[in-house]
Amino acid sequence: MADFVGAVDQGTTSSRFMIFDHEGNERGKYQLEHEQILPQAGWVEHNPVEIWERTSSVIKTALGRAGLQSSDLAALGITNQRETAVVWDRTTGRPYYNAIVWQDTRTDRIASKLDREGKGDVIRRKAGIPPATYFSAGKVQWILENVDGVRAAAERGDAVFGNTDSWLLWNLTGGTDGGVHVTDPTNASRTMLMDLETLDWDDELLSFFDIPRQMLPEIKPSSCPTGYGTTLRTGPLAGEVLLTGDLGDQQAAMVGQVCLAPGEAKNTYGTGNFMLLNTGEELVRSESGLLTTVCYQFGDAKPVYALEGSIAVTGSAVQWLRDQLGIISGAAQSEALARQVPDSGGVYFVPAFSGLFAPYWRSDARGAIVGLSRFNTNAHLARATLEAICYQSKDVVDAMEKDSGVHLEVLKVDGGVTANDLCMQIQADVLGVEVSKPVVAETTALGAAYAAGLAVGFWKDTDELRQNWNEDRRWSPAWDDTQRSEGHAQWKKAVDRTLDWVD
Ligand code: ADP
Repeated sequence: MADFVGAVDQGTTSSRFMIFDHEGNERGKYQLEHEQILPQAGWVEHNPVEIWERTSSVIKTALGRAGLQSSDLAALGITNQRETAVVWDRTTGRPYYNAIVWQDTRTDRIASKLDREGKGDVIRRKAGIPPATYFSAGKVQWILENVDGVRAAAERGDAVFGNTDSWLLWNLTGGTDGGVHVTDPTNASRTMLMDLETLDWDDELLSFFDIPRQMLPEIKPSSCPTGYGTTLRTGPLAGEVLLTGDLGDQQAAMVGQVCLAPGEAKNTYGTGNFMLLNTGEELVRSESGLLTTVCYQFGDAKPVYALEGSIAVTGSAVQWLRDQLGIISGAAQSEALARQVPDSGGVYFVPAFSGLFAPYWRSDARGAIVGLSRFNTNAHLARATLEAICYQSKDVVDAMEKDSGVHLEVLKVDGGVTANDLCMQIQADVLGVEVSKPVVAETTALGAAYAAGLAVGFWKDTDELRQNWNEDRRWSPAWDDTQRSEGHAQWKKAVDRTLDWVD
């Protein structure tokens, strides 16, 4: 068998390709950003053609730089930004519209109408998630209603929908020349269209959004021994590799962090933050504003579920400091700037740019910076931004402990923001628990590789995966209880200020 497994990680800000060996070590990596298209307030789009081109480039470059070829890969996995909706024509291969990204809020009327019409509770019960702009179905409905010709093409079976996993799998396996149209239950569980118990598309849910069933991909296991399809000799891998792993990015990070037993949890700090708690084969319904979602389905085993706390804006608030305010020149500089001051000087920043997700689910919220006095500087704002990342996570941890009764001893972390040492220290301080980061920080890509490799016997079982997990760093809480509870109380007051901002 070949010595490596490859993984495509198609994230919100970039696409990367990674190659791992049997010990889970990186053997190759390359990454390219893609454009964030912001046509008007609240709208966020990506160009699917650019995403496919960048993905092709990173595959070629990563393999080339590592001195490897497709025959060195035992299997290929894919992981992706979830919920982001692409609608394309399977006869021409062209998207009908840009991908509508998970952060996009243009469908807020669609989402609020569902609750007014009493359909929200059906969605909550069947799909495990509340009606929100976040999920795919409203985005597909918007494209069907607003882009010329799509409805008719969908009725004909030509216009099809997928998250970026489906879009890339279709292109990798031949596109208009016989590409497969598939997804996995973790991605499907983010659409508001799949029944969490049957793991199949649900006709009643489809009717709420008036989405023709033939638009939807076939749902196959996240780790799929028979494979979804094979890459083409003429494609970016220049050879035939079986595609056997497909997981939404956050579920992939769970697998990469080997959170494979009930009670195990991780928090990923990227564009947004996503904390997941493995609940095993039990489907736990949240009373505290968390989502119920599929964690993974390996082969023909029963699906494993998770509770999830999703936060829309964390690392992207740091990007906002860089791109919109221009007070830092790169994300890493947020740490140096924040370190110029010992605390946030009374400033609280609630980056509710896309409303507030877990545990609040308030699409009427908008961002606020409160507590300002003339004394405050850029450095206080940078520090308040890092604190906001941590306080938002604290709200989710509190909800999780309430729902599950599990008290967290250690929080496993990963994602781009974990490079920020100060931010991770603040996280330990705010939570009052240890924060632990693994050696392989690219847990998302690693999880997709694990799903793919398990399917073909590259890893024989999940025990082998556990042996690959090693701690790199650990942060211990330094604040006392008073500091922790006073800080959190002030944060909650700041959150209150952001609510009821838009109708
Ligand atoms: P995604 O997979 O969502 O694209 P990544 O895990 O690649 O995200 O993380 C990218 C995010 O991390 C960006 O929003 C960026 O602002 C943030 N980031 C990267 N490095 C740092 C840092 N040193 N300090 C704070 N934020 C950072």
